[in-house]
Amino acid sequence: MGQPARTIRRAVVTGGAGFLGSHLCEQLLDRDVEVVCLDNFLTGSPDNVAHLLERPGFRLVRCDVTDYVHVPGEVDLVLHFASPASPLDYLRMPIETLKVGSLGTLHTLGLAHDKGARYLLASTSEVYGDPLEHPQREDYWGNVNPVGPRGVYDEAKRFSEALTTAYRTSKGTDTGIVRIFNTYGPRMRADDGRAIPAFIGQALSGRPLTVAGDGSQTRSICYVEDTARGILEMAFSGHAGPVNIGNPDELSMLRLAEWIVELTGSSSPIEFIDLPVDDPKVRRPDTTRARELLSWRPSVSSEEGLRRTVDWFATRLEAAAVTAG
Ligand code: NAD
Repeated sequence: MGQPARTIRRAVVTGGAGFLGSHLCEQLLDRDVEVVCLDNFLTGSPDNVAHLLERPGFRLVRCDVTDYVHVPGEVDLVLHFASPASPLDYLRMPIETLKVGSLGTLHTLGLAHDKGARYLLASTSEVYGDPLEHPQREDYWGNVNPVGPRGVYDEAKRFSEALTTAYRTSKGTDTGIVRIFNTYGPRMRADDGRAIPAFIGQALSGRPLTVAGDGSQTRSICYVEDTARGILEMAFSGHAGPVNIGNPDELSMLRLAEWIVELTGSSSPIEFIDLPVDDPKVRRPDTTRARELLSWRPSVSSEEGLRRTVDWFATRLEAAAVTAG
């Protein structure tokens, strides 16, 4: 199921100034891989990679990958991570989301093919939609509503998986697909609408934590350093995938909120709000493939990961308060 692993000296990361992309850039540099980070800062920010600018082998280039992708010189690996990813972002930018999943994927696949590079597509657990099978294995086809509000993201990713597969089968491009499940950690945006930063922001500022529905819906959350390590294991392998990358431990949204209240020492109450349309009730990866093919499993406990994330947000809030005077 794949081609032999190759030596990676220079990588292109699209969406590298985003949450996940910035951790990938960092871990690649730690592995002595040069990084060209392409980003149009639609949902990311140069701040996320400011600490990398002084590191040898790192280049940040403003580029919208839906227009064209041109990278001079040799490239051994292309990681396509550009895309709005939080529901708030892709509901606000449905056309941009569909364009980066289609045109962006086409252009970055073209780059990988021209350079003879390995290509890794950031797909998502959202391709399973509101799944009817639990946990989700990679051979489950999913339950997606193409005309529902989340359809723009889910279908963009499903199309990008199909296009990546077509490049592999018809052009022989060395491609891989990772289906990433909910990931959290430092450099998430406080206002991106996802539950963890929302809960932490609410708890740190003493506002009520707003839990959707009755909070019994579950998510499996993976700490970003673990997710990025799993993604790079896949990138450095010759496997085609798709491979689920996520934490198989399930956590209810209510438990998550209660945990964050405990970790922040907050006295915020918990408030229940309406459940968003098409919100999946359960989502949990079967990670057998990642364990068997990549010897990967998450190593940071949810408690430790949440503690690190709370600390990071608390430091940012303090710094913002000092700046505001
Ligand atoms: P993010 O919004 O923080 O990062 C996305 C980055 O892509 C941003 O820096 C943004 O500016 C950039 N971008 C968007 N459109 C672009 C374009 N046309 N050209 C160039 N750059 C563009 O999101 P994230 O959470 O870091 O997600 C990164 C990738 O991982 C996405 O493809 C997402 O679908 C996937 N993913 C993330 C998660 C998660 O839990 N964070 C889960 C599953 C999949």
